[in-house]
Amino acid sequence: MGCVSAAVLSVAAGGAQAASVRAYAFHAGTLKTQTQYLLKDTRVGTPMDIPIPFLVIQHGTEWMAFDTGCNAQAAKDPAAYWGEAIAKAYVPEIKPEQEFREAIKVLGLAPRDFKAVVLSHGHVDHAGAIDNFAGTGVPLHFQKAEMREIRKAIAAAIAGAAYCLGDFKHLNELNIREVEGVLDVFGDQTVMVFPTPGHTPGHQSLYVKPSTGKPFIYCADALYTLEIMERLVVPGLATDIPATMQNVHWFKLEERQGVTIVPSHDPGYWAKRTWAPKELVP
Ligand SMILES: [Zn+2]
Repeated sequence: MGCVSAAVLSVAAGGAQAASVRAYAFHAGTLKTQTQYLLKDTRVGTPMDIPIPFLVIQHGTEWMAFDTGCNAQAAKDPAAYWGEAIAKAYVPEIKPEQEFREAIKVLGLAPRDFKAVVLSHGHVDHAGAIDNFAGTGVPLHFQKAEMREIRKAIAAAIAGAAYCLGDFKHLNELNIREVEGVLDVFGDQTVMVFPTPGHTPGHQSLYVKPSTGKPFIYCADALYTLEIMERLVVPGLATDIPATMQNVHWFKLEERQGVTIVPSHDPGYWAKRTWAPKELVP
């Protein structure tokens, strides 16, 4: 399975008329954690409740999801499902209606309705619900470097650095696509995925140009909170700090060019936004 972006491009390039593009954000629950897991220069032990977001993009009559939130099993018994180490740092509060399969019903969607799913990375709060796509044939796009990390964890049979083996139990029933580099999801540059390694080796972020309003970048965990960008705070968890900070600088430059920068786990940011079924105004 090689680079898929060229194939997607050639299919979509046929239709020249501009499709309407809308973005929706979902609140897939809350992780009760502490500031040191997100921000390096912080007092250890300060409680921080962070939202778990995922995005759904409508492009004409087609749909894509960016991330999926946590697995439904995690909400029931996090220590048993995630293992003690992850469950100690992050306590999930996920209502049944916030789980991916239930949540997307507010847009009238089921997993099989998606043209594509893109995963920012393999951690529990982003790729946790991919088993909803087992047997659907829907392509799930990971960066190749991220699948390498995931397969390493599976081969070692240990959950490490927020990869949970249970999340990948149905890998053989999923249509995994490995991307190397940029993915132009609909072939018209309105929805693009860019590698932003650093948080994990194969992390990627999402650029969207909606039909109305300014373009935005949903950074996922390449930018936990806006404070990280504004004060250049080093994040609490990253496999490569220099690469992570390079991304943060890039986001800052994009913001100056008029692109709205959207963080992943920023409670203050998301408190002021509307969740699906209302459109996201980033
Ligand atoms: Zn996360």
